[in-house]
Amino acid sequence: MEEMEINKVIEPTPGRGVVIAGPCSAETEGQVMQTAKELAALGQVDLFRSGIWKPRTRPGSFEGVGTEGLAWLKRVKAETGLKTTTEVAKAAHVYDCLKAGIDVLWLGARTTVNPFSVQEVADALKGTDIPVLIKNPINPDLGLWIGAMERIYKAGITRIGLIHRGFSYHGETIYRNVPRWQLAIEMKRRFPEVQMIVDNSHICGRRDLLAEVAQEALNLNYDGLMTEVHPRPDEAWSDAKQQITPAVFGELIENLRLRKPTANEMEMAKLTELRRQIDEVDNDILGMIGRRMRLADAIGEFKAERNLAVLQEDRWDEILRAATQKGKLQGLSAEFMERYLRAIHQESIDHQDAIVNKKMA
Ligand code: PEP
Ligand code: MN
Repeated sequence: MEEMEINKVIEPTPGRGVVIAGPCSAETEGQVMQTAKELAALGQVDLFRSGIWKPRTRPGSFEGVGTEGLAWLKRVKAETGLKTTTEVAKAAHVYDCLKAGIDVLWLGARTTVNPFSVQEVADALKGTDIPVLIKNPINPDLGLWIGAMERIYKAGITRIGLIHRGFSYHGETIYRNVPRWQLAIEMKRRFPEVQMIVDNSHICGRRDLLAEVAQEALNLNYDGLMTEVHPRPDEAWSDAKQQITPAVFGELIENLRLRKPTANEMEMAKLTELRRQIDEVDNDILGMIGRRMRLADAIGEFKAERNLAVLQEDRWDEILRAATQKGKLQGLSAEFMERYLRAIHQESIDHQDAIVNKKMA
């Protein structure tokens, strides 16, 4: 495809990045208006987000209020002056949003992953010039992310931005969606003029990591932030664990440090990037060890029930032999493999002992 000439979705206020905030889902008119008013009062929000149609993993969860909610977003704009954005996944969503005067549309992770859906949305956008934000696909595939951008661009849309919301990961991790920063950095390298927004809410899936992930993105020179904000987060109809109140969000943005990397900091960039990758791997390893311990606990429970010995010697020999073999393929010495396995194994035995002792007590 020929070179794309892509413009900014939102002109950022100098001195701070683009700020997008609002509830995961529009639930009621009252909830939407309250969130918008409290966010507007912060004076730092560029775009009010709210899901109207919600793509849920399983049927039976709250699937959004539908078109009715668009009138609430219209009211948000009329009464607070905040521009609005929502997710579209089908042609009908696009037409409804255009009719309602929504300012910016976004493609969700589950849409970017599907070229049929992206094309349907792109076709519906033809002849308009509404800005579009594109979330990364659920799976770590830059081709799909680029492809979605190309389809939207070919439909005649010139203001396009990207949202990094993390990638689905099979295994234990502290994140809901692992960031894999290097993928977003690669997108920034290939399309330097395209704004990159971090969606810390969907990366984290929990409140306590939101600030850290937002700061990390700013350190990487991202253009802005999308965060889910709800007046009563614990009562939210979707994504309750990751939402924060407007007041907490206000504190979060107050505490962010905007860093512009200088030339000599560039020298550090490579190191920082490698360290970040190591941190990611360390997180994954920890998650996996935690998962292993929980499996060991389950075995401990079972052994205690059946009155079996905690240590079964031949099982240990077998683990050691197989792991030494596999470690060798990864360039790890037999000594290291043995020390590593003994440490993990000892921890498992301690866990199992504790379980057996508790049962006997
Ligand atoms: C959302 O922003 O509420 C959403 C559904 O996000 P994602 O597409 O990133 O899962
Ligand atoms: Mn959400």
